[in-house]
Amino acid sequence: MNIVVSKVEESRIKDIDINDVEFGKVPTDHMIECDFVDGKWGNVQIKPFHNFSLSPLTMSLHYGQTIFEGMKAYKSPKGESLLFRPLENIKRMNLSAQRMNMPIFPEKTFMEALKKLVDLDKKWIPSKEGSSMYIRPSIIATDETIVARPSFNYKFFIVCFPVGLYYSSKLKVKIETEYCRAATGGVGEAKCGGNYGGSFHPVTSAANKGYNQVIWTDESHQFLEEAGTMNLMFRIKDALVTPKLNGRILKGITRKSILQLAQHLGIQTIEKELSIKEIVQEYKDGNLKEAFGVGTAAIVSIIEQIDYQDIEMKLPESSEYANLIKEKLYNIQTQKEEGPFKWVESF
Ligand SMILES: *Cc1c(COP(=O)(O)O)cnc(C)c1O
Repeated sequence: MNIVVSKVEESRIKDIDINDVEFGKVPTDHMIECDFVDGKWGNVQIKPFHNFSLSPLTMSLHYGQTIFEGMKAYKSPKGESLLFRPLENIKRMNLSAQRMNMPIFPEKTFMEALKKLVDLDKKWIPSKEGSSMYIRPSIIATDETIVARPSFNYKFFIVCFPVGLYYSSKLKVKIETEYCRAATGGVGEAKCGGNYGGSFHPVTSAANKGYNQVIWTDESHQFLEEAGTMNLMFRIKDALVTPKLNGRILKGITRKSILQLAQHLGIQTIEKELSIKEIVQEYKDGNLKEAFGVGTAAIVSIIEQIDYQDIEMKLPESSEYANLIKEKLYNIQTQKEEGPFKWVESF
């Protein structure tokens, strides 16, 4: 597959303070686009950012056959562009594609094109502490018909955005016992658009009651799964505990990296089925020291209070593990620290 590049005549960056932009609203100069037609991917095109022109019959608009990824590029102290475990993202995108009956995208081409795009727009990568360039790969179904069947044609694209410091204030969350994010045998493990669409109503209802997020539970509403759009971690005594993957939980790359990093730091990690009952008991016994959400956007979001029915679990201030892990991982991602793993690609 060829990569064809056409550059902008003039960059928009001069009008924008990349260290002070609203999350996800200001795209960089270029984007990647590639169409799947007649059973194969065509040339990859790197073009100036532009709108699509789509028929109202476009299938993805009706049936949600869409998948996406989320990753970040950082700038190293030496000024190089850095990507954190990008191969994990394309591998996961292809798993999502399989689940959603969509064509997989070749890994090698993805990596090559992505690096070209990031390099072309590297002046859009903010260097301010906590800032980065957010990268959003996506595949959408493009057949023009409202017949309910898998599409034959698809569009792959990648757009990028400079994003500011994700200053996460501590979260107050409720354990959700009415709605589910995902079901056994469903699409919870795929990063597909509908998972988010379906979460907005429960999250809005929780927000109206003063919560920042919900903690999703399984269909029996007994076991904890995720914290909104993040994976969920607890410190119970001195162990780092997280719900084990079960086909409903999204396989977060941050989750996986933090488990590896914690083990390297000598912290015991436990992946298990984690019931509400157990968490409430550990809280009552004084063993529940921390709770936090983990994901690409904020890396670590500290949870200060978890409500379950009329039980309010207020967690200690210190957040020792959350702060340690967040700092270590951020330092690795930005190459401020070498780190024990070969996770960062620089170019
Ligand atoms: C993307 C996502 C995550 C986090 O995954 P990362 O690879 O760590 O960014 C967690 N939960 C859900 C539902 C997600 O969509």
